[in-house]
Amino acid sequence: MHIAIIGAGIAGVTAAHALAAQGHRVTVFERRGSVAAEASFAHLGLIAPSGAGPGSFDATPPLAERGRWGLHPQAHLRPGWDAAAWRWLWQARQAAAPRRATAQKSLGELARYGRLQLLKLVAAHRLEYERADGHLVLLCSAKQLDEARQGLVDLKARGVEARLLDAAACRALEPGLQGGTALAGGLHFPQDEVGNCRQFAHLLKEAGERAGVEFRFCTEVTGITSGPSPALRSIELAETTAFLQSRQELAADSGNSGMEEHFDAVMLCAGAQAAPLLRQLGLRLPLLPIYGYTITATLRDYDRGPRSAVTDAQAGIGIARLGHRVRVSGGIEIGTAPHQHHEALLRPLYEALDRWFPGAAHTHRNHAQAWKGASPTLPDGLPVLGASVVPGIWLNLGHGTQGWALACGAARLLADRISGRSPDLALGPFEPARLQER
Ligand SMILES: Cc1cc2nc3c(=O)[nH]c(=O)nc-3n(C[C@H](O)[C@H](O)[C@H](O)COP(=O)(O)OP(=O)(O)OC[C@H]3O[C@@H](n4cnc5c(N)ncnc54)[C@H](O)[C@@H]3O)c2cc1C
Repeated sequence: MHIAIIGAGIAGVTAAHALAAQGHRVTVFERRGSVAAEASFAHLGLIAPSGAGPGSFDATPPLAERGRWGLHPQAHLRPGWDAAAWRWLWQARQAAAPRRATAQKSLGELARYGRLQLLKLVAAHRLEYERADGHLVLLCSAKQLDEARQGLVDLKARGVEARLLDAAACRALEPGLQGGTALAGGLHFPQDEVGNCRQFAHLLKEAGERAGVEFRFCTEVTGITSGPSPALRSIELAETTAFLQSRQELAADSGNSGMEEHFDAVMLCAGAQAAPLLRQLGLRLPLLPIYGYTITATLRDYDRGPRSAVTDAQAGIGIARLGHRVRVSGGIEIGTAPHQHHEALLRPLYEALDRWFPGAAHTHRNHAQAWKGASPTLPDGLPVLGASVVPGIWLNLGHGTQGWALACGAARLLADRISGRSPDLALGPFEPARLQER
């Protein structure tokens, strides 16, 4: 089959590779100038089958206080007059326990499967990128320690390997860790890992190209038609304008009405920007961009920085080692502009790094790189994977805060399904049919 993929983030790159590996001809359309240029660009890089992490849906026991809408109390919510955002918040709150527990189980299975696929890709192509093993969730009070102890039973039942550590054992694992008496202990997840997703995506793109995948960069899909032979209309963009101008402006500027091509199937991996294409197909998905921030700074003292990934559960902030740099991630924003940075959410990232690894990195604002990204998220926290209700169109969207691991799993499962093979994991919990689509 000749399959078109829209979007070369981590979802699109892994899917392209998996489809090409099964003998399909694959063309990837990406409006930016390279792979992993949007949400997959500078996220924390956790691969966490444990479900633990600084994201909005942490699957460990709820160690942080929850504010209104079940999100971190410092979440910056500005839904304004956006009815879709209010609906999403309402639906997310309704999706609380016990459905949340079922969703977490499915998410954990997919993330574990995804990590296995990632390990296979790394071995098969000898991918070398910045990475480290293990993930330590810091506990800052006797109460948290107690809650974590109780949560171990649930983690074990979900097949998650976890160890409860006292403060001294945490410091043995992460010798740079400070924080004085604030540290009561930690939960260690040896099967979680952290890495540079963007670097991985670039390496996998090269492997995909060797397997025959065609990447068309600076090419935006402006029109999509479903059917037994679905069609895409695309326009070429100048690299510098690839993310600055809207589609309509570009079309008007260039008088470029685009090129139409037919495929045997189309897979939508357009992340947080999928909405206009879904609308053209008559599909409605409650996919909301949840914004978050990272700062990345060069280490000034390797021994004082983290060795791998550390999460401050109370603050909802992750800190990770990336080669000779450190990356800090946190903040939840809904309803804000994509490129507008909110200082009140960035400041706690610098503070957390100073508190846990003081003096480890060059954190002066001129040295640290701040980034705001969007996790495309559905209210039940699960991605949407499978054939949509319109013919010829497959969905690979909504990977939330676990995009890397889920994308690796989804790629293989969807490739198997498209090729008529039986996937290793049932796609049932992720099927588009669970959502109101039309
Ligand atoms: C602060 C923060 C921290 C995070 N931490 C982690 C983490 O630790 N671990 C983890 O796994 N995930 C994390 N995530 C989530 C992760 O960033 C996303 O889940 C993942 O990158 C989504 O990948 P994607 O391929 O679906 O989307 P994207 O990477 O956004 O890719 C979509 C691509 O589609 C392209 N596109 C869209 N529309 C069109 C069109 N019409 N034509 C052509 N191209 C188009 C876009 O240009 C884009 O490149 C984090 C996110 C944030 C914001």
